[in-house]
Amino acid sequence: MDALMRESPVASWKSDGGSLTVEALKNETDVGGRIRRLNAAIRQAVRGMRPPERMTVSEWADRNRVLSLSAENGKWRTKRTPYLKEVMDAFTDPNVRNIVLAASSQVGKSECINNMIGYVIDQDPGSILFIHPTVIDAEDYSKLRIAPMIRDCPTLRKKVSKAKSRDSANTIKQKTYPGGILTMCGSTEAHALASKPIRYVFGDERDRWKASAGSEGDPWLLAQARQTTFYNAKSVEVSTPTVKNASPIEKSFAKGTMERWCSRCPHCGEYHEINFADIRFEYDETEIKHEKLYTIRSIWYLCPDCGGVSDENDMKRADAKWIAGNPEAYRSHRTRSFWLNSWVSPWSGWEESIMKFLQARGDSKAMQVVYNTRFGLLWEDRGGLEDEDSLLDRREDYGRNENLEPVELPDGVLLLTMGVDTQDDRMEYEVVGHGHFGETWGIRKGVIMGRPDTDEVWQRLDEAAGHVYRFRSGVGLRVSLTFVDEGGHYTQEVRLRCLQRLRKKFFPIKGYSGDGVPYTAPPKKYTVVIDGKKIADCQVFPVGVDAGKALIMDSLKVRSPGAKYCHFPRRDDYGPAYFRGLLSERLTYSDKRQERWKWEIIPGHERNEPLDCRNYALAAAKALQPDYDALAQRIRRAAGVAAPEGAGSAESGVRRAEMKTARRARPAERYDDW
Ligand SMILES: [Zn+2]
Repeated sequence: MDALMRESPVASWKSDGGSLTVEALKNETDVGGRIRRLNAAIRQAVRGMRPPERMTVSEWADRNRVLSLSAENGKWRTKRTPYLKEVMDAFTDPNVRNIVLAASSQVGKSECINNMIGYVIDQDPGSILFIHPTVIDAEDYSKLRIAPMIRDCPTLRKKVSKAKSRDSANTIKQKTYPGGILTMCGSTEAHALASKPIRYVFGDERDRWKASAGSEGDPWLLAQARQTTFYNAKSVEVSTPTVKNASPIEKSFAKGTMERWCSRCPHCGEYHEINFADIRFEYDETEIKHEKLYTIRSIWYLCPDCGGVSDENDMKRADAKWIAGNPEAYRSHRTRSFWLNSWVSPWSGWEESIMKFLQARGDSKAMQVVYNTRFGLLWEDRGGLEDEDSLLDRREDYGRNENLEPVELPDGVLLLTMGVDTQDDRMEYEVVGHGHFGETWGIRKGVIMGRPDTDEVWQRLDEAAGHVYRFRSGVGLRVSLTFVDEGGHYTQEVRLRCLQRLRKKFFPIKGYSGDGVPYTAPPKKYTVVIDGKKIADCQVFPVGVDAGKALIMDSLKVRSPGAKYCHFPRRDDYGPAYFRGLLSERLTYSDKRQERWKWEIIPGHERNEPLDCRNYALAAAKALQPDYDALAQRIRRAAGVAAPEGAGSAESGVRRAEMKTARRARPAERYDDW
């Protein structure tokens, strides 16, 4: 029954002079009948319950609030953001204990909170605890939002003690007024969350809080435990939504009335929440220096009921109301919950939102921000968007040269690096080609069986790095930098062997996982210890492997050659096993873990060496930071010398010339200084 009701919004509330009335029901099933009775009960309960002399929060704001720092200047007008009226007025409804607001940015949710706080100070004083993700967030909010509100609002200015007065009743994190104190804190400050009783609790950006305040547990539960002595307590929980199934505001929303702001279609009169799925747009795409530029030609809204087309102005002017998916919660949980996106905001244009969407394509973190802050949608972690078969299918033939030998380097490659993964019984490597703007080419993938402390294994790595890989023109490149994983049981051996290959630009790397660890950083000095004796110093590069994995997965999602695209040759070394390994991990999110974002092996994909090799090879290119324009020029110049017209008969001579030119063009020579 509960699930059924959540699926179909059946009852709607419309604000009518400040009290709740129930509109006609959308269907007449048993569920509808039950909800009608419930809504009638709500109406009975609410009628006449408004406290004497009190005004609602929206009335108070219209009368008293003056805005100076937000998107608007001058007197607050609830009319500008009609969707906030019911949210604010739920605060003065004695039947409502909890208010939940999940909203994208730029809808006015901070002002909505401020109006409630101003109302408390002026009309129904009691102590307020206002929790932010961090202490810095709390201080910023106080300085940028609360202080200007008090300064610009005469009624509040009179009541809140002056800043910098001797008794310091008014500090950044505490404001005193007759009948209460407003305290602002971060979600990690367990002491602030669990001391004196408090009547009003506000939580902002709830999804960004720490899962636990030290060892004390969920900060929100801690704060709410302080309200138990107040029959008239209120809690207000606000956040931009984040990741589906891991979003605290999503859970709280589901416990409430689950109301969505629905606009009336000018064609058929049905009410719908405006969703990204129903927005259509046309745009032009141009590419200048591999950077994509967009021009949006038109945007419209397609009614999911009648297919009628409306534009932004139509929809922003249309009649709108909150429709509850779970009206029962008004009585059972005394909780009204609201969900808002920026399509209805007077401060957020549709074109701007669509532009952000277009620009975020190919970058999943940026796209999540657009989904959360613009579309007001939860982000679904779809991890392995690309599957092995589609990558196998898009492999390319790199072609043949005039001697019908396979071309090793497709045009566009400007630099080669190699990544080596170290296992107890083998070493795996990949040679990767790099072009402008992160475009990459798989050049050679190999597995060398044998222990990493044997000469033969390293000789074969030398061969892979020292080989001259050739373009169709005959010009060749060698590997400019090789990163070798020193993790595992052969750390010292790897350090020693790399040290012996300093001239060949072999370096050991140490992988660090964790969100926020930078992909590359300057090398650090370590010692090489063989048989218990320190024999030398060597440079080891730290590599933030999670940043690399994110970069690889994002690049694999790019579907057309150009910036960030990954090319693979149609060859056996890039067969099904390679792609199974490349796609062996996905980013998962859990708020139950210390580390919320974590790369995990996908079941059935135990081999992740191809992903590691690619990761280290990309890190090597990142560490080099070459001037790709200069490299391109050198390769073009070398090709001009190496392949003169009519040189076909003097093959061997040409080949020698190529070799020389190629060696001269070797990019590695430019990086001898480190
Ligand atoms: Zn319609």
